[in-house]
Amino acid sequence: METFEFKAEMKQLLNIIVHSLYNHPEVFLRELISNSSDALNKARFRKLTDKDIVDPDADLEIRIEVDPKKDKFSIEDFGIGMTKEELINNIGTIASSGTLEFLRRVKEQKAAFEGNLIGQFGVGFYSVFMVADEVSVETRGADSSSKGYLWKSGGEGNFTIEEIDRKHRGTKISFKFKESAKEFSQDYRIKEIINKYSNFADFPILLNGEKVNKVTALWHKKTDELKSQDLDEFYKFVSNDFEGPLGHLHMSIEGVVNFKALVFIPKTAPSDLMRLHNEKSLHLYTNKILIQNDCKELLPEYLRFVKGVVDTTDLPLNISREVTQSSPEMLKIKSVITSKILSFLESWAMSDKEKYAVFYKNFGPLLKVGINSDFENKDKIIELLRFESSLRPKGELVSFKEYVQRMLSDQKEIYYLSGENREILERNPNLEYFNKHKIEVLFLTEPMDVFVVPSIPEYDKKHIVSIQKSDIDLKAEERIEKPDDNLTKSLISLFKAALGGKVEDVLVSKRLVDSPVTLVSGKSGLEPQMERMMRMMDKDFQKQKRILEVNITHPLIRNLSRIYLADTTNPILNKCINQLYEGALFIDGELNAPGDFIKRMTEIMQEATEK
Ligand code: ADP
Ligand code: MG
Repeated sequence: METFEFKAEMKQLLNIIVHSLYNHPEVFLRELISNSSDALNKARFRKLTDKDIVDPDADLEIRIEVDPKKDKFSIEDFGIGMTKEELINNIGTIASSGTLEFLRRVKEQKAAFEGNLIGQFGVGFYSVFMVADEVSVETRGADSSSKGYLWKSGGEGNFTIEEIDRKHRGTKISFKFKESAKEFSQDYRIKEIINKYSNFADFPILLNGEKVNKVTALWHKKTDELKSQDLDEFYKFVSNDFEGPLGHLHMSIEGVVNFKALVFIPKTAPSDLMRLHNEKSLHLYTNKILIQNDCKELLPEYLRFVKGVVDTTDLPLNISREVTQSSPEMLKIKSVITSKILSFLESWAMSDKEKYAVFYKNFGPLLKVGINSDFENKDKIIELLRFESSLRPKGELVSFKEYVQRMLSDQKEIYYLSGENREILERNPNLEYFNKHKIEVLFLTEPMDVFVVPSIPEYDKKHIVSIQKSDIDLKAEERIEKPDDNLTKSLISLFKAALGGKVEDVLVSKRLVDSPVTLVSGKSGLEPQMERMMRMMDKDFQKQKRILEVNITHPLIRNLSRIYLADTTNPILNKCINQLYEGALFIDGELNAPGDFIKRMTEIMQEATEK
């Protein structure tokens, strides 16, 4: 018998599993069944090419035995088994990258970490230590020369391996339930858990000799024969989710490619939407036989939240991972699935706005990535975009299509304003002109929006433009009283002189109604929201100068003109101009040190009250 030490990271992992993950201890069973199922799938492959495989006629099934009197449990499969090296590497000393990722996430999320997530990090086996103190694994590989081994561990610092006589190919895991997990030694509890998570495992599961799961390829049924309860269970099985899906799509495609697929949209998004490496995805079958779990090549990055199965007759059974990645059949399947899913979402957007809003809130940020990465489907994704808008109440979402239908007869462009949230945007002085003229402005409040929308130059032949830019084409207000041109010119020069190099330029504004000044970006400048995002990603990102627009019809500006005419050196002018500029920065959330602003305000109030 040999004794092995677990690696430091493995010890940490086991410690967390034993001492801090109590929620959903029942997932141990799902993880063990899923490992047995994987091992059986591998054995089924191996049988295709290896005539000398150990136990060629062994039943491809999973046998679970529980003994409620002795609180004992065992699960046995006649799958591919493990060699001694595999025992050491796969459930032993070597900490997998999944272990490290798991530890990182546990640290990040602290107490909120769900035992349920454990299977997503390739550390599912260790979940047995939630319910057992000591675990034995007997195993024998499928190779004709293989030997049997017994692995034992108390889940603390080490494990032992010894050679044993084992007639059968495959693996048997056994243990006694610890005090807190005794409920699982009851038949009915085990049955309940199998029904919940493993009903659709690809192999029969026998509990104390009786078959308890369904083993049906649901996707081969007719669409109208699919029952919602089966769909829910099946979804939970393929996705590891706890709740049912938001919706599903059943495809049966014949022609250039041939496949059936049953895909689901989850109800909730994972906490880290932009990094879905460990998430469940689409499982690939050929002729009802699983050939690859979580086949990433079947979906573009931006649809990785979709779960389910794809079953094709176009790929050979013993296809390798390398071949699936680059085969033309896979590319065709991917292209059809992508386009079907996008149309499916479009139909939700049209017929079930509430459902679509739930979907969009959860997965919209990822979907948008497709606009800059999937040229073929760009237009379809653009149709799926939704935004709040200045003309609709808070919470209501608007598409480009609806926007264009509502456009005023002489309006030529689609307008948007980007920023952190609706409340801040509604206070932006750049909106005043648009509100006054009832011109709709889309509110871009998702961080992703500023990377996406500016890359869509036009929709329905209309330019999509930011109202924060200085060069938008607005009709000048008809003014009752024409300001004196020379006076305006000198006033603008005065502003420039007072602000020195702080702004790129000072211009007469056409867009202001109630506010005296506003800040906009130059023709080639970034919008403030975009600039903020860039600064978040790159600390050295150069802050850009903005253009100050002045509302020359505003009473305050007219007062300044009057003072200027009387005395061009009156110090109140400089004070007011700087105060106006910093006030505009403040509204944009860009006034970093308000000290001078407050000091100047105090001085101005003091002067006003002295009279
Ligand atoms: P994952 O299944 O995500 O790889 P696990 O922690 O569940 O992570 O299992 C680790 C590894 O242990 C598996 O990848 C497999 O190589 C091996 N293993 C676990 N259970 C079995 C089994 N019943 N038969 C053969 N190999 C197994
Ligand atoms: Mg596993």
